[in-house]
Amino acid sequence: MTKENIAIFTFFGATGDLAKRKLYPSLFKLYQKGYLKERFGVLGTSRADWSTDQFKDAVKESISGLENSAAEAEKFASHFEYVAHDVTDQAHYSALNDAIKGLDEKFEAQGNRVFYLSMAPNFFGEIALNIKSQGLISDNGYNRLVIEKPFGRDYESAKKLNDELTSTFNEDQIFRIDHYLGKEMIQNIEALRFGNTIIESLWNNRYIDNVQITLSESLGVEERASYYDTSGALRDMVQNHIMQIISQLAMEQPVAFTDADVRVEKVKALRSLRVYSAVEAASNFVRGQYSAGETGNDYRDEDGVPEGSNNETFVAGKLLFDNYRWSGVPFYIRTGKKLADKFTRIDVVFKKPLIDIFAFPQQSDAALSANVLTIYVEPKSGFALTVNAKSAGQGFETEPVNLDFFQDAESEKEVPEPYERLMHDAMEGNSTNFASWSEVAYAWKFVDVIRRLWNIEDPQFPNYRPGTMGPKASDELLERDGRSWVYKLEK
Ligand code: NAD
Repeated sequence: MTKENIAIFTFFGATGDLAKRKLYPSLFKLYQKGYLKERFGVLGTSRADWSTDQFKDAVKESISGLENSAAEAEKFASHFEYVAHDVTDQAHYSALNDAIKGLDEKFEAQGNRVFYLSMAPNFFGEIALNIKSQGLISDNGYNRLVIEKPFGRDYESAKKLNDELTSTFNEDQIFRIDHYLGKEMIQNIEALRFGNTIIESLWNNRYIDNVQITLSESLGVEERASYYDTSGALRDMVQNHIMQIISQLAMEQPVAFTDADVRVEKVKALRSLRVYSAVEAASNFVRGQYSAGETGNDYRDEDGVPEGSNNETFVAGKLLFDNYRWSGVPFYIRTGKKLADKFTRIDVVFKKPLIDIFAFPQQSDAALSANVLTIYVEPKSGFALTVNAKSAGQGFETEPVNLDFFQDAESEKEVPEPYERLMHDAMEGNSTNFASWSEVAYAWKFVDVIRRLWNIEDPQFPNYRPGTMGPKASDELLERDGRSWVYKLEK
């Protein structure tokens, strides 16, 4: 049976893009599935001078197409209320407090509170402090803080932000959203590894040659140019999403599948990630910036991007873990904008058999291929394992064949959106799929070295064309190790 969650949500930044596009539709899906029933309320707040009726209309618009009837949407919207104010104004918080208490009483929410900060991170610290000093914390239920990325710009700013947040909330009350952790196949990494002897027993440097992670985007910066230019691919994708994926791939088996046990292992993995010197960073990381394609602009000529910007729209890198399991196994990563296609995949390349017994007698050209386990994260969800098998026929040739599994269309429909899953987890108090402070801190320490190096060296930009898989140097990064990307464009 579906368990009803009981809570009052307060959305800061309630009129913003993220709230409308993701948060309200996700809450609505939880409502339709019965995870939210009667005993929940949503207080929206932002600078925009809206009335509650306007807010309800915006919420209904954001869920339009999902509802079974107008009455259903109306009933859902009846749980929403709006208070306009500036979060930097302390008086704001007493108005919020009254509204939250009113909703709590009306919907019998037992003092359970989720504060969701869907606005610019420079406000996070101040909001958290005011939530405490102005008495918004309830003393009879839970109090949880959900925050959006980016979590700082480097280790120092992230630490400062964390200090501000933890003066009001404990670590176990802070839910740092990384929506990649809400994706079905990222969660499946643990199931694949720890649910299968044939996978986990080979999951080490004895059998794995290298691991490749690709987060490829086909779009450019679109409307987010001014934000993106202050961030870049390294901060926007590597520090958070890629580091989270890598820690799940590299971690040891947790004692149990609980948030506390998983976090311990992820942190241990990130602690053993080799933090490069500047010289090592220069040889192990590559950056890129897209040029104009057939139709578009050079990144530097996009609206909102400062002239001559050296911001990177592409990163590739080689990461190494200094631990018993992974010593000597490179983890190659790449991510970028305006690449050939939009997809996320992980390729785990196994070592070839030490001896190819088929090579000598048959004098065949077809050498054995390495087994590759590919985890397809998006757009399709599934995985495939290539194994060598005998080609049908008289002779004895081998060829790689695929053992694969993909979610069918029906199951894909059942898969919750990352935000839906993560909001539910936050109400349940389950932080398995959120980034802990220690993970964030280690990830920044790794990334900061590369960022500092890039801040002082002038790159040769632009250096890749839209529709490719990035600059040539990304391929060379693997070629110099005698390897190549598993996913490559046909020439
Ligand atoms: P947005 O600019 O669309 O919305 C910002 C909201 O904050 C608005 O409701 C605005 O009224 C409110 N606001 C701004 N200043 C205020 C003030 N002084 N007092 C009260 N309210 C104020 O931003 P967004 O795209 O919804 O993003 C919100 C957060 O989510 C950001 O941290 C962003 O980095 C993060 N994020 C957004 C997306 C996305 O797809 N939009 C994706 C990932 C992360």
